[in-house]
Amino acid sequence: GGVRVYDEAVDAHERDQRALADDLRAMLTGGGGGGRHGEVVLHFQPQLDCRDGSVVGMEALARWRHPERGLLPPVAFIDLAEQHGVMFALTTEVLDQAARQAARWRAAGRDFPVAVNLSTSCLEHPRLIEVVDDVLARTGLPAEGLVVEITETTLMHDPAHAVAVTRAVAERGVGVSIDDYGSGYSSLTYLNELPARELKLDRSFTARLTSDERTHAIVSGTVDLAHHLGLRLIAEGVEDAGTSAVLRELGCDRTQGYLHSRPLPADDVTAWLREHDRAVGRVPALPSPRRG
Ligand code: C2E
Ligand code: MG
Ligand code: MG
Ligand code: MG
Repeated sequence: GGVRVYDEAVDAHERDQRALADDLRAMLTGGGGGGRHGEVVLHFQPQLDCRDGSVVGMEALARWRHPERGLLPPVAFIDLAEQHGVMFALTTEVLDQAARQAARWRAAGRDFPVAVNLSTSCLEHPRLIEVVDDVLARTGLPAEGLVVEITETTLMHDPAHAVAVTRAVAERGVGVSIDDYGSGYSSLTYLNELPARELKLDRSFTARLTSDERTHAIVSGTVDLAHHLGLRLIAEGVEDAGTSAVLRELGCDRTQGYLHSRPLPADDVTAWLREHDRAVGRVPALPSPRRG
């Protein structure tokens, strides 16, 4: 009895994942019907300058608005997209939506860049550069309005190739940021060769910063390492004012986390920005004139 019940549970889970994978493929590749790309939704999370609290960037984070299952977080579909060969199609849609939203904010006088996460298969995809160029051309977003976030694990998969691709990206003026820094196997050699502008300190360090002395020492050393290499350090996962204050003391450049805002739909972020302007006394730049 017990063994059979367990097998049935595993079967049910596998069937469920297969069904979800079929939905994902149909959504992204359209099965002859052009796809239902509207199901890919982006939430955006602000990144703040530690010194003056100004908004210096937004990270775009993918969600899937599944017709029956509701709004799904990345953990529910990113690995599945990789396993079923549709990660590049998903990322193309994310790049397109992120660039369009960044261009909209720019037109409203908000010139911070928007960051998109790139998985290993996407960084190594032969059409990545072409898609980035195409997205920038179609949306009219200047290259400096876009950042790509790449993890250390991705960089170490094929370091020479990663260096070449990130250089091609950076040559266009697109920013490169090393995500989840400290959580994987970092190579200081490649860090030195990469055209990155920024290290994103992994959330696990941020979370332990104020309660663990050794973490405090690691973060302090990481700020210095970043600065000696001419890079910025941004801490992700900042949830409380105490952690934010220690990060500022240590010389960290930027913070991102629930303390400022959870990732939100674009319209909610726009409202958050207006509220934030009031709080820090910022006068927004005049919006550029609308055409037509
Ligand atoms: P990430 O790129 O490291 O993104 C940061 C994650 O931390 C996000 O989770 C965000 O919601 C969460 N977070 C932000 N601030 C806080 C905080 O103060 N406390 C805590 N506990 N969490 C915080 P999310 O949106 O669930 O995304 C998880 C991961 O999924 C991302 O980690 C990224 O690796 C991946 N992902 C999301 N969108 C994409 C995408 O379009 N492409 C690729 N390749 N990966 C994506
Ligand atoms: Mg990221
Ligand atoms: Mg991260
Ligand atoms: Mg992370």
